Amino acid sequence: MLLLVLVAVTVGSWRFVAGRPSSPHVMPYTELAALLTAGEVGTLQVEDGGGRLVGSLKTPLPDGASRVSATLPSRAVSLQDLERWGAAGTVVEVSSSDPNRSASQWLQAFLLLSAVGVVGFVFYRQSSVAMGHRFQATAPSRQLTMQSVGGAREAQADLGDVIAFLRDPQRFRAVGARCPKGVLLVGPPGTGKTLLARAVAGEAGVPVIVAAGSDFNEMYVGVGAGRVRTLARRAREQAPCIVFIDEFDSLGGRRGRPNRSGEEEVTLNQLLVEMDGMGGNEGVVWMAATNREDMLDPAVRRPGRFDRVVEVPLPTAADRLEILRIHAEQSPLGDDVDLERLAQLTVGHSGAELANLLNEAAIVAVQDDETHIHARHIEAARDKILLGRIRSGVVVSDDERRLIAIHEAGHAVVGLVACPEDRLHKVTIEPRGRSLGAAHFAPEADRHLYPRHYLEGIIAKALGGRAAELVFLGEEHVTSGAGSDLVQATSIARRMVAEFGMSSEVGLMSADPSAHGGHLSAQFQSRIDTAVHKLLEAQMKRAEELVRQYQGAVQAIADALLAHDVVVAADIHALAEEHGVPLSPLNAGTRERDLVVA
Ligand code: ADP
Ligand code: MG
Ligand code: ZN
Repeated sequence: MLLLVLVAVTVGSWRFVAGRPSSPHVMPYTELAALLTAGEVGTLQVEDGGGRLVGSLKTPLPDGASRVSATLPSRAVSLQDLERWGAAGTVVEVSSSDPNRSASQWLQAFLLLSAVGVVGFVFYRQSSVAMGHRFQATAPSRQLTMQSVGGAREAQADLGDVIAFLRDPQRFRAVGARCPKGVLLVGPPGTGKTLLARAVAGEAGVPVIVAAGSDFNEMYVGVGAGRVRTLARRAREQAPCIVFIDEFDSLGGRRGRPNRSGEEEVTLNQLLVEMDGMGGNEGVVWMAATNREDMLDPAVRRPGRFDRVVEVPLPTAADRLEILRIHAEQSPLGDDVDLERLAQLTVGHSGAELANLLNEAAIVAVQDDETHIHARHIEAARDKILLGRIRSGVVVSDDERRLIAIHEAGHAVVGLVACPEDRLHKVTIEPRGRSLGAAHFAPEADRHLYPRHYLEGIIAKALGGRAAELVFLGEEHVTSGAGSDLVQATSIARRMVAEFGMSSEVGLMSADPSAHGGHLSAQFQSRIDTAVHKLLEAQMKRAEELVRQYQGAVQAIADALLAHDVVVAADIHALAEEHGVPLSPLNAGTRERDLVVA
């Protein structure tokens, strides 16, 4: 029976493959963009919602290929791009699917794939050979060094002896020293934990076997545990080596949690048994990454298991500069790009976010037909990441624009006075992503503690938009535009009350369930609600008073927004000053502070 299906599948898939047109030559987007600009492309198909371009060349490439394709982030292609390419003499077709295949062919392909999938799955389950293909060591040629890791100084230092041990396990053995067997990398997502594990392996010149916690999650009892055994066996074969388990929380989570399956427990037990079974001299170092250390089973952290914890925190300003320099190495930067300034402006960004920012900027630069990344490309990438793409299709009526301008000007003026610690970066009324406008404030310094007055200021700023609507239009005319502002204000107020002991109603009582034996009384919860409400009312009153006091400034900024859509910091500051708004030194600064000098 099984065999029959297989034969059918083989015959069918041969027909399918034979009927397909030859696949296009894949090239980087930059090359295809150059060909498009040069008018070398006869017809261009935009597929996959703008995620893939397939072009037919007027003159074939040296290797004979005349059909070429490139992939780019989905929806990166805009109407403007299409028009520009059209103008360069290319016939542009937009399709939702590959036009060379009819629907019935797709159906056939789908059925075939499902059949192959089912058969493959059955085989895969039964064959231990297939199992062994998991957990392959990374080839040494693809390995990294600490040169690729920016910042994370403590983590790099902490990992020094692991590297030393793996380089020369004999030396450690000779003096009877035991190497750390398990290292747990703990930190927020995107801070370079995976990167560090690969860099340690690279520095030590040993293979690294990468697994993810979810690789072990299976419905069938025993499968996960079997995989752990496979992993451990491979590690012994390859030693000295590193076993790196990413997203460790999904494997090493607390046992006995209500929603944890028996299978997960068996798997974790197997892992602990394997770790205990290794003497520590085999030369296998286990590394695991997690961003939820508190979720881990305490047994995981016992001596002889993951007993070494290395913190990988969010990068500081100096770290961010290093990370930006590392990622800027491959991209030609224009001379107006000041990475030092960018590092200061990106408070709270992880390494992965910084890498993404530069990558987006590179894409913007390519779309702009530029060979270098300029400050304005980085600025555009930042807006795109923070707020989403500009939605040119949104039609906003004149009345609505006026309202949005007043709302955003309200945020700006209240923020300038109530949050003097943050710098106003710019204010816009361009519809982007899900927002219709925005007043950008950005902290200029890494902050670890938030004083009460700062948190109150943030709440007042968030309510500034609604306050301006109220003052300028009256109670009857306030809009739904403040919805997300209210979410932000409420969540900060709630944390001030319930976590930071900053209200008289609740006092120093924490609402953390662990401090209450797991459950809060209804009375306590209603006291929290009262306190949150009072805090919001007080800050709303303050915001309203500020808008009344500086009504002239709000009006002037709103007018500037209506005229220009985007108003940069220096211009806002000038308008604010003109109308008597007191500015903090940070905001009174000169134009040089901006990323882009407009
Ligand atoms: P994590 O595992 O902590 O979630 P990753 O190591 O997967 O983070 O980081 C993702 C990407 O972000 C990396 O491949 C790298 O390009 C970039 N990155 C993150 N942190 C750093 C750093 N400290 N230095 C250089 N690049 C970094
Ligand atoms: Mg990772
Ligand atoms: Zn708002």
